[in-house]
Amino acid sequence: MSRGYNFCAGLAALPEDVLDQARAELLEWDGARASVMEISHRGKDFVALAAQSERDIRELLAIPPGYKVLFLQGGATQHFAQIPMNIARRGQSADYIVTGDWGEKAAKEAKPTVGVRIAATSEATNYDRIPARETWDLDPNAAYVHYTPNETIRGVEFMTVPDVGGVPLVADMSSTILSRPIDVSKFGLIYAGAQKNIGAAGLVVLIVRDDLLARSPKDMPKILSYAEQAAQDSMLNTPNTFGWYLASLVFKWLKKQGGLAAMAERNRAKATLLYDYIDGSGFYRNPVEVSARSWMNVPFTLPREALDAPFLAESEAAGLLALKGHRAVGGMRASIYNAMPLAGVQALVDFMKDFAKRNG
Ligand SMILES: *Cc1c(COP(=O)(O)O)cnc(C)c1O
Repeated sequence: MSRGYNFCAGLAALPEDVLDQARAELLEWDGARASVMEISHRGKDFVALAAQSERDIRELLAIPPGYKVLFLQGGATQHFAQIPMNIARRGQSADYIVTGDWGEKAAKEAKPTVGVRIAATSEATNYDRIPARETWDLDPNAAYVHYTPNETIRGVEFMTVPDVGGVPLVADMSSTILSRPIDVSKFGLIYAGAQKNIGAAGLVVLIVRDDLLARSPKDMPKILSYAEQAAQDSMLNTPNTFGWYLASLVFKWLKKQGGLAAMAERNRAKATLLYDYIDGSGFYRNPVEVSARSWMNVPFTLPREALDAPFLAESEAAGLLALKGHRAVGGMRASIYNAMPLAGVQALVDFMKDFAKRNG
């Protein structure tokens, strides 16, 4: 057996160079004479790794002063609940822009803590677009506006950062962070589970503006408080050290690739190759409005459902892994995160062409 091209939406492919390096230094890491998994998170070696990883992500995303970077646990889902606990005062409401299943879940998890207003949603059209900005019903007194820049399941992505006035903008970037440059200064809080574009599951990266950190109530459990975690450099308790280490390798890898401008060019080229082929094929179909098509997750259907099973079996046999669409949508989905090379997308398109020829 050999490694295939992995199109899984999450957990997702990691850069091969990163896996190679992790393997090479698994037993003895960087002079520690032990594995990175076996040393104290408070020792100087790991503390240096943590500091370097923060410098690297700050450089990659050009994070301006006035923001803290946190490396926490719980997955993005736990932070759906934790965000309102930290940045909404009792009795306040928060606005949610819902463009897919993750935004829906984020709103549901926030509900026990904050008054949730759905300020805009594209549910009526099966989450195939981003509701026009003029139709959003934003409350200028909201604690924050939450949205999902890339909806992983339906493959719907914002190409620009929405203007929400003076209300802090909160973004679940789990499936798009580090795929292109962003203007961090437009956000109050950015968070992302690591298992799509950062590294391995079990780590969540948060970028939080200082004025929002100051909102964490003093009487909340410390372990859930972003302000406490920031004050303790994300080491209030034992962090996910191996996940943090893998993330640090991915950040270095990204810098070596030329940073996020280079990644954006590569990601655009990958997505264009796949969408152009799908649109021209007369066989496959992507349901998302062209202006909102994700660079990271590309769902597509075949002309007959009966073709799904053979498509999956044959693609898997050809070394193209995990193309099955999400159960909520059906069909196929190719996730083409940073770690997917252009050659992998080309291999997928070649396979799709051949499959269409044989089944058209
Ligand atoms: C995968 C994903 C999540 C869920 O992440 P967990 O780490 O499983 O909680 C949340 N939001 C988006 C956009 C995702 O892609």
